[in-house]
Amino acid sequence: MTRLKPHSQARYLLCSDLDRTLIPNGPQAESPGARERLRALVEHHAICVVYVTGRNRALVEQAVAQFDLPWPDAVIGDVGTRIWSTFDQRWTTWSQWDELIRRNWTEQVRERAGAHAESVGALQRQPEECQTAYKLSYFCPARALAETAARLKSAFAADALPAAIIASLDETTDQGLIDILPDKATKRGAIEMVMGAWGFAHWATVCAGDSGNDLPFLTSALQAVLVANATESVREQALSMAQAQGQIDNLYLARGGPGGMNGNYAAGVIEGFAHYVPEARDWLE
Ligand SMILES: [Mg+2]
Repeated sequence: MTRLKPHSQARYLLCSDLDRTLIPNGPQAESPGARERLRALVEHHAICVVYVTGRNRALVEQAVAQFDLPWPDAVIGDVGTRIWSTFDQRWTTWSQWDELIRRNWTEQVRERAGAHAESVGALQRQPEECQTAYKLSYFCPARALAETAARLKSAFAADALPAAIIASLDETTDQGLIDILPDKATKRGAIEMVMGAWGFAHWATVCAGDSGNDLPFLTSALQAVLVANATESVREQALSMAQAQGQIDNLYLARGGPGGMNGNYAAGVIEGFAHYVPEARDWLE
């Protein structure tokens, strides 16, 4: 089912990660007033806002309230396995996304993926509220993260399992996380579904993120911004992945400067948005 976009005058779509991208919950300082400026930008200029996050519905609602973020028009949650329209404060699941991602994802696939995860040793299952029909979530010691993800990947390949592995590191707690998802359930695929359903072209869409699990959409053909508080290693990976895919022109590294802001978190999102949308530069003066 195609859904109308929330406000017909919206000309741009902003898709942003939450933790350490819009939410200033990392070690670096946030520029004073950065979130207020972001709110003014999206409210006064009718930009559709989509949050793209590992958080579930309850944790998104909590973050919006706690950090006074703009209410979104849609949420891509649970690491890309759910899309909801959220405008008018109503949460409506996109059943067309569910249908697409569950095509190869049978109960048997889920069970076999879980059995592989149990057998690699380093993984500890996250609490039940973190598990969904489309997502198996584990904690992993940070030092074992890369090796465990690689071992799981080859086990899935040997078994021809249509499942994806998303490994990420919570830099604030140094906690490694591994999510096992249907292979079609990527954040990038979900963003493209929203663009298509709401009629936003490539040039009218800007995506923002900060960490390893954002890299697939940050280094794709989508116009993307990496906020300045990203770690040096993520910045290097982003550059080399974008280069390898011929997408270096679609990756902007926020560095601070415009409007006297430092490029971290919301300031970086605004800076990147203005890089791709020249008229936003005037709005921000
Ligand atoms: Mg993040």
